[in-house]
Formats: sequence, C-alpha cells, structure tokens
Amino acid sequence: MQTMTIDLRAMGGLYEATASVREPASPEELSALFQDAAARRQRLTLIGARRSFGEHFLPPEGAEGVSTARLSGATRLLSTEADGSIWVRAPGSLTFEALHREYPHHLPYHPPTGDRISLAGALVACAHNAVGFFAEEVRAFRMMTPDGAVHECHAAAPGIAGELFRQVPGSFGALGVILELELRLFRVRERQRAEITVLEHCPTRGFTALERLEAVYRAGEYPLGRGLFFLGRRGMSVLLGDRIVMPEPHDKAAPLPLTDDSTRRNIVAQGIANRMPGLVRPFQGLVLKRGRRFHAGLYGFTFFQRSYDRAYDYLASPAVLPRMLRALGVDPRLTVCHQTFAVPVERRRAFLDMYFDVFDAYPELEARLEQQDLIRLPECAWPLHAAHGMPGGAYLLTVSMSVRRGQPHEARVRAFLGEVSRRAFEAHGVKVLLLKQAHCEPALLRRMHAPFIEALGALKQRVDPHRVLTSRMLDALGL
Ligand SMILES: Cc1cc2nc3c(=O)[nH]c(=O)nc-3n(C[C@H](O)[C@H](O)[C@H](O)COP(=O)(O)OP(=O)(O)OC[C@H]3O[C@@H](n4cnc5c(N)ncnc54)[C@H](O)[C@@H]3O)c2cc1C
Repeated sequence: MQTMTIDLRAMGGLYEATASVREPASPEELSALFQDAAARRQRLTLIGARRSFGEHFLPPEGAEGVSTARLSGATRLLSTEADGSIWVRAPGSLTFEALHREYPHHLPYHPPTGDRISLAGALVACAHNAVGFFAEEVRAFRMMTPDGAVHECHAAAPGIAGELFRQVPGSFGALGVILELELRLFRVRERQRAEITVLEHCPTRGFTALERLEAVYRAGEYPLGRGLFFLGRRGMSVLLGDRIVMPEPHDKAAPLPLTDDSTRRNIVAQGIANRMPGLVRPFQGLVLKRGRRFHAGLYGFTFFQRSYDRAYDYLASPAVLPRMLRALGVDPRLTVCHQTFAVPVERRRAFLDMYFDVFDAYPELEARLEQQDLIRLPECAWPLHAAHGMPGGAYLLTVSMSVRRGQPHEARVRAFLGEVSRRAFEAHGVKVLLLKQAHCEPALLRRMHAPFIEALGALKQRVDPHRVLTSRMLDALGL
C-alpha cells in the first residue's frame, strides 16, 4: 500500500495540514489497515476529493490520512425507469465529473454545486442543492466500518446496516468508508436548458422577496432551484426561480454567467469577484432585473461553482499567466470565510432582522461580502443534519466573505459570524451547519449539536470501538 506525506489544503484557503497519507487500493487493504490501526492505537482520517471548506478531512496531530481515491471500481447501470431516469451503482470515490463522463445524458438529483466532489463525500456531508438533499436519491450503499465488517445499507435493512443507512448522511467519515452507492440520475434531453428567472428585485426591508420565496416553495413552482440573494447590508433582495425548459430557436434569453465551459474566463471572473467583491455588486444589481430570464446548459447550471473549484489548481499552476500573477504578489487561494445557518421556518423574519442588526455593527465587512443567499429546503429526514427536527423544513442562509488570511478583517469576519451564531441559537434555535466552516465558539458548537454528538457517538461505539476514525472537525466536537 502506498504511503506518502502530503500537503492537504481545505477549499476556501483557511485550513491546511501536512500529513502522512495511506492509499489502500482494495477493500482487503483497507480492512488490514483498520486492523493494524486498532492494534497500534493509530487514528485515521478519511480523505475523499478534498473539497471540504472546513477541517473535515484534515488529520489531527498524530493521526494519519487514508485516501479513498484508489478504492475505485466499475460503475454499473442497474435499471432504466419509465420516465427515463436510471439507477446506477458507482464507487464512493467517483466524482460527479467522472460519473457524468460515463452517463453524459443524465444528472444526479440535488448534488452540491462543484463537480469534483466525490459521491461518498457528498453523502457523508448530507450535501444539498437549492431544493433538496443528495441523500434522498441514494437508495443503498456498501460501507466498511473500522471493525472490518462490510454492511449493505438500505432503508429496510435490519440492525446496524439500517441504522447506518439513516445516520451516515451527516456523519463526516466517523463511521466507516463508503465503498459503493446506488443513486438515481434523471434524463437530460438534447435541447433542454435551465431557465433562470428573476422573480423579484426589491428592497430587503419588508421581506417581500422572502415571503415570495415561501409562496413559490409551497406552490412547488420552479422545482429546479429557488434562491434569494441579499445584496449588501439590508440593500436589495433578488429572488431567482429555476426550471427546465425546451427553448424555441428564436428565444432570446441571455446566457447565465459562470455556467458555460469557458473555464479559464470563469476562473478570472471568480478571481476578480473574490478579490473585489464590492466592485461586482453594482453589476449584479444592473444585470438581475425583475422579469429577466437567463438560460444555461444543465450541467453548467447544476455545477455552477466548478470554476471556483478549479481556480486554485489553475492559479497555482506553472502556466505563464498564473506565474506572472504570482510574481506580482497575487495569492492563488481565493480565500473565503463562510458559514451556513439552518433556520426554523417560522423564525425566518426574526432571524434575518437579528442577522442584519448584528451586521450593522460590522459595517466595514460589507465590502468583503461575496454572497449572502437563502434557500428553502423541505423537512430533513436525516437525523445528523442541523435542519433535522425543524417542522415543515428549514431555511438555509449561507454567508460568504472574501478574506485575506491573517489580516485583521479575517478576525472581524469570524467575530461577526460567531456573534450571529450565538445570538441566533439562543434566541431562535438556529444551528450552524457542520458541512461548511463553523466560525463560532467550540463550546457553543458542541451545545448546538449535542443530539448529533450523542447519536453519532453511540453508533460509533458499536462500529468503531477503538475510535480509529477521527478528523480535526470530529475532534472539535469531542467525537
Ligand atoms: C465548489 C464547491 C461547491 C460546493 N457546493 C456545495 C453545495 O452546493 N451543497 C453542499 O451541500 N455542499 C457543497 N460543497 C461542499 C461539499 O459537498 C462537501 O464539502 C463534501 O463533503 C466534499 O466531499 P469530498 O469528496 O471533496 O471529500 P473530502 O472533502 O475529502 O471529505 C469530506 C468528508 O467526507 C469523508 N469521506 C470522504 N470519502 C469518504 C468515503 N468514501 N466514505 C466515508 N467518508 C468519506 C471525509 O472524512 C470528510 O469528513 C461544495 C464544495 C465545493 C468545493
């Protein structure tokens, strides 16, 4: 089995580690690695496609990494349904990009917006898109737990396999390695496009756009995506609604920026937006006029953050332009502090009022604001997700601010997000998602996620009694 020392960098440029990483190439090698680790009291951290923004795949002091990249295998078509959707069985380490190469006429339901994320990484993070959870269309998976057992997990499975099926989404590599999973993909027809319509562009005060989002959600309109963007501090709100259309040849809808295949141009646009977010905002306001429609290819629309994902690789590469930029002092990292809050539906207005009140005490951060978006998700079936138990579903507010690492404004952004986290949890039962970065006091995070820690801890005790699996993120939660 290969062992190497690797520099691991989390997306978003804030966290990194240098660690010894093992790379098993078969379930047998993985099983031997687990056995050996238990005997040596060696702790291990699972590493997928390394697209996490937090410390989810970074080994704590003394732990080793286990890359899942070589635990590959064939992808198989299981069945084709009457509506053209298909069920496939795929290796957990496969990325959405690689899956699409195998099934170019199909797309997954509710994947995250970066295509170089692994299927297993998306499942254990309980990833979502703007309308649902990725786990909803995964009907089974095979998992090896650190005790060496292999479990066929599905909803009706008895005993531990059934429990794993329910608790793996949101467990962040604490329970075992997903070797394979079965997921459904929907059929994309030749001329189909995503149509994005600006439903509202109005002042945030009064929350007209927020209530329209709730109405659109309840009516089931725009099933492809619904998102509310807050421009600035209680500035304008822009509500977008997305659906699949078959446009006529003369349809004049504009192309949606960042969704086409001009990766290098999109990386440049991302780089500018990250470094000068304040400059970009007026353009957003001008382009996103009420009633305006945009079209995009369905792959580019689904994975619209793929250029952000590729930016570091390009900007750190030996190509001429990146070399020149680096010589001029441009940092290849597009560093962001970001965090997502899960908000009970009935507290949406009170929470947003409080959020913007806190923001008023940090006015200098408005210039660092990259994105502030709100989505409305249905009730969450996955017990380890922060939105679980919120009646009727939840709103997710994601705040993303561009920072330069180590500069005083980074500490201010963290203080801002930390203050919102504390007040929002105490006053409104709002929780910080573990999926992204968490900028709040560790004690508060543990209090907020006490049910998660208890449930995951109890199951872990049964499948990982030697506590082999860990990560910096799991360590912070005391797991
Ligand atoms: C550009 C971009 C856009 C994104 N957009 C979204 C979004 O829209 N919605 C959303 O929900 N998330 C989004 N994410 C976050 C992403 O879905 C998660 O961070 C995901 O967990 C990353 O998975 P990964 O394959 O990169 O694995 P890693 O980052 O390497 O690891 C993630 C976690 O999975 C565990 N793990 C990895 N492989 C396995 C395995 N085979 N079995 C068990 N555990 C494993 C690791 O221990 C770790 O806890 C985005 C990320 C990026 C970079």
